[in-house]
Amino acid sequence: MSVPRFWREIPQRYNLQAAKCGACEGVYFPPREVCPACRRASIGKMAPMRLSGVGTIVEWTRVHKPAPGYEMQVPYTVALIQAPEGPLLTGQVVDSASEAIHVGAHVRSVFRRVGQDGEAGVIHYGTKWVVEARGAEARSDAVPTGKATDGKRRKGRNKALFQPPVRSP
Ligand SMILES: [Zn+2]
Repeated sequence: MSVPRFWREIPQRYNLQAAKCGACEGVYFPPREVCPACRRASIGKMAPMRLSGVGTIVEWTRVHKPAPGYEMQVPYTVALIQAPEGPLLTGQVVDSASEAIHVGAHVRSVFRRVGQDGEAGVIHYGTKWVVEARGAEARSDAVPTGKATDGKRRKGRNKALFQPPVRSP
């Protein structure tokens, strides 16, 4: 399968697809049909937008007791990440030195395998986060989630509107 086709077929949520309210410019992830702040005024004005895939850790925890399916990965780190566009995201932090994981650390999204159903079953992929080392080259095995579309990944207007936080599932 060609790389572009592979990317096109990735479900929205793996692409950090959010929704922006045309009335108040609030950004929601996961995307919403109706803005919880504007309600009726937002109907028909919610536009899809892609998050830039970068963020800052605002809270983190190391998980020692795994959720089902994550037994092989403990201990692992889960962080609350502030996206510059506004939403708060939750996600697993991978491939990062434990001393690099702290409140205020800059992270970027990577696309990784999350789990697999059964021995020859469906492999699931999803967004995870890596602490960005200043000046370091991107890891060769890491695929930035923003790579699919174009070179606009970091060009989005940085409107940090602090709407009521919406957590990813
Ligand atoms: Zn709104």
